[in-house]
Amino acid sequence: MRAHEAGWAHAAVSVRGPAWLREPEDANALVPQLWSSTARKSDGVLEVGGVPLTDLVAEHGSPAYVLDEADFRARARAFREAFEDYTVYYAGKAFLCTTVARWIAEEGLSLDVCSRGELAVAERAGFPMDRVGFHGNNKSYAELERAVELGVGRIIVDSFHEVQRLTEITEALRQAQGSAAQGSTARPPVRVLVRVTAGVEAHTHEYIATAHEDQKFGFSISDGSAFEAVRQLHETPGLELRGLHSHIGSQIFDSAGFEVAARRVLALHARIRDELGAELPELDLGGGFGIAYTTQDDPAEPAMLAAELTRIITEECAARRLAVPRLSIEPGRAIVGPSACTVYRVGTVKAVELDGAPGMQSVRTYVSVDGGMSDNIRTALYDADYSCTLASRASTAPPLLTRVVGMHCEAGDIVVMDEFLPGDLTPGDLVAVPGTGAYCRSMASNYNHALRPPVVAVRDGASRVLVRRETVEDLLALDAGVEG
Ligand SMILES: *Cc1c(COP(=O)(O)O)cnc(C)c1O
Repeated sequence: MRAHEAGWAHAAVSVRGPAWLREPEDANALVPQLWSSTARKSDGVLEVGGVPLTDLVAEHGSPAYVLDEADFRARARAFREAFEDYTVYYAGKAFLCTTVARWIAEEGLSLDVCSRGELAVAERAGFPMDRVGFHGNNKSYAELERAVELGVGRIIVDSFHEVQRLTEITEALRQAQGSAAQGSTARPPVRVLVRVTAGVEAHTHEYIATAHEDQKFGFSISDGSAFEAVRQLHETPGLELRGLHSHIGSQIFDSAGFEVAARRVLALHARIRDELGAELPELDLGGGFGIAYTTQDDPAEPAMLAAELTRIITEECAARRLAVPRLSIEPGRAIVGPSACTVYRVGTVKAVELDGAPGMQSVRTYVSVDGGMSDNIRTALYDADYSCTLASRASTAPPLLTRVVGMHCEAGDIVVMDEFLPGDLTPGDLVAVPGTGAYCRSMASNYNHALRPPVVAVRDGASRVLVRRETVEDLLALDAGVEG
C-alpha cells in the first residue's frame, strides 16, 4: 500500500461500486422510475416539462433545481385520492415556497409547517390557516401566539413547556375577550394533537422497536408522559385535544414500523378512553414514505400504502373496540422528492490511480460540478445514494464508473458516490441528478459563500423561476460591515 494523506482513496477501495449498481448497456438512457414523469431525452439532451435543460441553463444558469409542475401536482393528487378518507398534509420542510403552497392548496391537501419561517410562507401564499398543522419540539411563546392568532388548524404539542405556553396564551386571550365589548364573537378553541414517541425508529429498509424512546421529539408512551400530557390538555379550557400524532422516521419502504407504532399508539387511545372517558377522534400517522433515488429502491404506490395503513389501524381498533379515528398522513419527500432534478455544469475531470486488486478497475474518475454540498447535503450528511445522467448531449463512449463531486473545500463534498457515465465527460457538459426535490433546497447552505441555486418550475415547454438564484449582493447584505 502506498502512503497517502487521509482521504477517500484507501487501498482497499473497490472501484466496482456497490453491488446493486449495474453497468448500463447504454449510458445515455434514463432509468424512468428515477425521473419525474415528463423527463425524456431527445438527441441526448434531457428535457423536463418540455424544456430542454440546455435551454434552461442558457436562460437561468447552473446549477439549478428543475421542478416538474405536472409531476408534483400528480403526486400530490395521487396521495389525496389514494388516502381519500384521510387528511393529507404536505410536509413543507421537504420544500416550500409560496407557489408550491398554492399548488398544494389547489390539489386539496393540507400543509405542515415547523417554524415561524414556514408559517410565514403559508401566510404569504394565502394558504387556508385551518388546513395548517404546526410542528416543532421547541416552539417559542411568540411562535405559538402567532399560530393561535392566525387560527392554525392543528398545533402538534411536543413538550410540557408547550402545554404551559399554550395554556397561558389561551388564558390571556380569554381574559382579553372577557373584558372586550359585548357582542364580540367567541374564539374557537385551539385544536391540538399530542406528539408521542412510540419507540419505533424506521429508516429505509429497517426499523428498530425499543421499549424506551431515546429521542428529542414528543412525549414518551412507555414512561407515562404521553398520558399525562393528554390528561393536562384534556382539562385545559380554550384547548381542544383532537388526538395523537406519531411520526416514526423517513425514507421508509415497509409498513412493519407503522404497524408496531399503531399498536402502541392505539393502546394509549384505549387507556385514555378507560381512564379519562374520552375517545380521541383523530390520529396522525406522520410521513416518511420512501422514494427511489437509485435502482436499489422500490417504493410502494400511494394506493398500496393507503390500503396497508387502513388495514393496520382498522384491525388494531377492532381488537380494542375503538372507533376508527379520522386519520392523517404527512408525506413530504414522496410528493416533492421525485418531482425535481438538479442540473450542474461539469468543470473538471480527473482520473486517480488506485491500488486496486488485480483485474479490478484501478482508476477512479472524479467529475467536479459547479455545486455540491451547499445545494445537496444529503450525500455528506446521510450517506445518501443518488444517480445522474449526462444531460446535454448523446455520447458513444463506453460507460465509466464515475464519482461526481462538488466545488467545496471538503473531501466529503460528494454529489453522487458511484454512477456509470459516458467515459468522455468533459468540462462544459451538463449533468443532471434526479430525486432532488426534497431536503436539498430546503437544507441548502451558503458554505464557502456559495450562492444557493434557483428553483425553476417547468411545464408545457415553459419555465418560471419560483425561487431566484442568490446573488453576491444577497450575501453581502447580511454583512454589517463594521469597521475593524
Ligand atoms: C419530516 C416530517 C414529515 C415528512 O417526512 P417525509 O420523509 O418527507 O415524508 C412528516 N411529519 C413530521 C412530523 C416530520 O417531522
